[in-house]
Amino acid sequence: MSFDYDLFVIGGGSGGVRAARIAASEHGARVALAEEYRMGGTCVIRGCVPKKLMVYASAVPSIIEEVRGYGWSAETGSFDWGAFRTKLDAELDRLEAIYRRGQENAGVTVFDSRATVIGPHEVRLADGSVKSAKHILVAVGGRPFVPDFAGAEHVITSNDIFKLDTLPKRVLIVGGGYIACEFACILHGLGVKVVQYNRSPLLRSFDTEARDLIVDQMAARGIEIHTGVVVQSIEKRGETRVVTCSRGCVEEFDQVLYATGRVPNTDGLGLEAAGVQLAPNGAVTVDEWSQTNVPSIYAVGDVTDRIQLTPVAIREGHAFADTVFGATPRKVDHDLVASAVFTQPEFGTCGLTEDEARARGPVEVYVSTFKPMKTSFAGAPDRVMMKLVVEKETQVVLGCHIVAPDAGEMIQMVAIAMKMGATKAQFDATVAVHPTMAEELVTMRTPVRHA
Ligand code: NDP
Repeated sequence: MSFDYDLFVIGGGSGGVRAARIAASEHGARVALAEEYRMGGTCVIRGCVPKKLMVYASAVPSIIEEVRGYGWSAETGSFDWGAFRTKLDAELDRLEAIYRRGQENAGVTVFDSRATVIGPHEVRLADGSVKSAKHILVAVGGRPFVPDFAGAEHVITSNDIFKLDTLPKRVLIVGGGYIACEFACILHGLGVKVVQYNRSPLLRSFDTEARDLIVDQMAARGIEIHTGVVVQSIEKRGETRVVTCSRGCVEEFDQVLYATGRVPNTDGLGLEAAGVQLAPNGAVTVDEWSQTNVPSIYAVGDVTDRIQLTPVAIREGHAFADTVFGATPRKVDHDLVASAVFTQPEFGTCGLTEDEARARGPVEVYVSTFKPMKTSFAGAPDRVMMKLVVEKETQVVLGCHIVAPDAGEMIQMVAIAMKMGATKAQFDATVAVHPTMAEELVTMRTPVRHA
């Protein structure tokens, strides 16, 4: 049977573009890709990239404060959201064009269209045309989830935040995960009064000691945090959102930002009709090769709800292309994936939390919490933390948790050692780089706890 393409990719985000490019340019496959919104997907257009640029913008007031602590005269001035947004839009246009060019240069045919699956080898584009392919890759990502309650239509999500005409003066952020905590810090840094509600402790799934330090410092900087609270209803009066919470409080905000998790984007994609098995939350069920129960259909990235991180989607897309179109079958190792939460202070984490490690067996815990030289000199109260969780019997480092400026940069390096199975003795055999914050990772001699 002859097909229009060897591979049809649905979704032009991190996983999809990597798979398409590698299949076409390295393995000579005839590839098409359909994207219904903008090339680059969540990470580039409404996630990691614009978020990180906002993190940089929001850090400026504390940098100015620090600068003054070093004897310079400097004024914070005011933040011009319109000017920032114009630059941001131009940057995203530039990046989107690079992603599109990357596909075209690799020989991939790009359709600016929604595509739905109509069979094991066929997709339908929005104009009704049908394309056939030997393999279909579903890489449609996820979308923000907002729970159902009276007035849910009055909230915004991370999809909307980059497109606001004006910054709110007072915002309620609901949620306590990556996105909620990052935007609480960003908006606070940009001068917005931030109140944050979550049903449970913030950053609940992370190491308790690390998250406590982050949350304490978020609160100390002026973010008003309420845990054990949910929104019961929101009423819109003019441009004001009147929020009633489960504790009976009634408060007014200019915007309410919901960041209560993301769900796979499979609604109306035709997968069930094509016989593809989905999990109860709509995620595409795949095996370790990213293959679904329909042999010609694969899925990578957030839509599979394995680990919702861009670099993981990229790995999955690349491994899929090498496996199906190259001579190098590869599975993705989802163990010891490091990540960073771009709060202020920043958080870098890899491996098990202390609680998870303890549940597996005896551990030794090394923690160093201190005021770093740079901010301490400037008079700031900031504290940082370096933490290693070590398996007692083998002395292998099972978890590393860093709360510090540039923790994301540090954890990337530590993750290499952890991936190699490094022991505490091997960390200690590494001579410190002085004076740095990260040197504590190789100089902690005595466990603070045996558990
Ligand atoms: P998270 O899963 O990180 O956090 C969701 C939060 O919402 C939790 O605090 C959760 O509370 C709360 N929540 C969930 N459901 C409800 C509900 N029905 N009512 C009230 N609260 C609720 O999701 P995010 O949306 O923050 O981010 C999605 C994913 O995107 C992340 O998991 C991450 O993988 C990725 N991401 C990564 C980033 C990075 O690498 N820096 C940045 C941004 C996103 P509870 O703890 O009780 O479950």
